[in-house]
Amino acid sequence: MNQAPDRAARADMSLDPDDWTALRSQGHRMLDDMLDYLEHLRERPVWQPIPQSVRDHFSEPLPLEPEALPAIHRQFMEEILPYSVGNAHPGFMGWVHGGGTAVGMLAEMLAAGLNANLGGRDQIPIAVERQVVRWMGDLFGFPEEASGLFVTGTSMANFIALLVARTAALGAASRQNGVAASDLRLTAYASCGAHGCIAQAMDLAGLGSGALRRIPVNARFEMDLQRLQESILSDREAGFTPFFVVGTAGTVDVGALDDFRGLAALCRRERLWFHVDGAFGALAKLSPELAPRLEGMESADSIAFDFHKWGQVPYDAGFILVRDDAQHRQAFESPAAYLRRESRGAAGGSPWPCDYGPDLSRGFRALKAWFTLKAFGADRLGQVIAHTCALARYLESRIQQCPELELLAPVALNIVCFRYRAARPDEANARIVVALHESGIAVPSTTRLGDALAIRVAIVNHRTEHADIDRLLDAVLSFGSREVAP
Ligand SMILES: *Cc1c(COP(=O)(O)O)cnc(C)c1O
Repeated sequence: MNQAPDRAARADMSLDPDDWTALRSQGHRMLDDMLDYLEHLRERPVWQPIPQSVRDHFSEPLPLEPEALPAIHRQFMEEILPYSVGNAHPGFMGWVHGGGTAVGMLAEMLAAGLNANLGGRDQIPIAVERQVVRWMGDLFGFPEEASGLFVTGTSMANFIALLVARTAALGAASRQNGVAASDLRLTAYASCGAHGCIAQAMDLAGLGSGALRRIPVNARFEMDLQRLQESILSDREAGFTPFFVVGTAGTVDVGALDDFRGLAALCRRERLWFHVDGAFGALAKLSPELAPRLEGMESADSIAFDFHKWGQVPYDAGFILVRDDAQHRQAFESPAAYLRRESRGAAGGSPWPCDYGPDLSRGFRALKAWFTLKAFGADRLGQVIAHTCALARYLESRIQQCPELELLAPVALNIVCFRYRAARPDEANARIVVALHESGIAVPSTTRLGDALAIRVAIVNHRTEHADIDRLLDAVLSFGSREVAP
């Protein structure tokens, strides 16, 4: 029988606390602080300038000696928490950032405590991830055997989709022989409004970002399918092998949705891989009001999206869904003696998540998504998504009523691009946005549409309300009037 070594005899290398009671109350204080933070977010500035003295504390040498936990916690509260970018705050409307939830935070704490490694092996945490994969497969009308994986974000998810399509196009042997050994010159297609990570994925996949054709968009910023067809044709004539088409559900600039039915038909006809970058827009599928706009997406070969944007799950929680499990696995599966599978015991449960992507060790991202979907229900999340679109339409209508302001793109979903009318509009609007940030009132971002710098408001956070839109707009008008003051 094993004898528990007594404390004195034990080589005391464990990192567990000597005093669990003290740690427990310290942990409760930390939890309370974060719940207080979330409860009283509105009383804080969205973002605030970071004092040099605070920055200086983050260039200290590697600590060799221990520091007491309460002191580290205090530093977190005083020097880290107040100086994050502010995306949990209802006034945050920049880029495409999700707000997270208290439920997601608690799930993340449980996941961290369990410290599960979801690379593989026979464990229920993987069943939780597979459950979410099946939920998403059902949501998007994929077959039951569709495969999927949590990853960092949509940048990685798009990259994985591209690698799966590349291996499908070049054959499994290309994984050993390399892309350069192939005679095929693969080309891919996405609209001018596609996210920059698509071109980067082409680069990382060894195909070259130059082999991504950027297809022009129509007045609603949707890919022009006629121009896509022409581009594919002329590439074929020039000896290229078109293989991959990316439709975007919610372009990052203006939130446009490509014509998925048209894309699906074209890809079927041309025998091309049809991928959807639905980083934020794909989850519009949760809203009965918005779902019809995604029609055709169910025909995609793969869909990439983020739970950490419109899904309100804390960072990071990207996701890739692939229609054909075998094709997905073919791109990543590799034999390794130390990853031998068994039919029984902890090494069972094959195939493993590591057979579907480049990560071997993987955290339990699935838990916070599973908790979020269960705790709120898919309908409620869909309502939150529809509400952010309603807020965008409200902002649009207020802009149209203000002679000082000019709308710069149609509002398709939750993104509104506009500017303050001024003699030198780009400079004036860039300054207005900086002033907004530094005021702590709201954090929109900017983008360039044609030759105009736009104030870009992306409403993603479930906490954002009409009053937040009003505060943003009043501040734009007030900072803008300073710009045009004589
Ligand atoms: C945010 C976004 C991405 C990148 O997703 P990450 O999760 O930041 O990696 C890709 N495409 C679109 C359309 C996006 O909005």
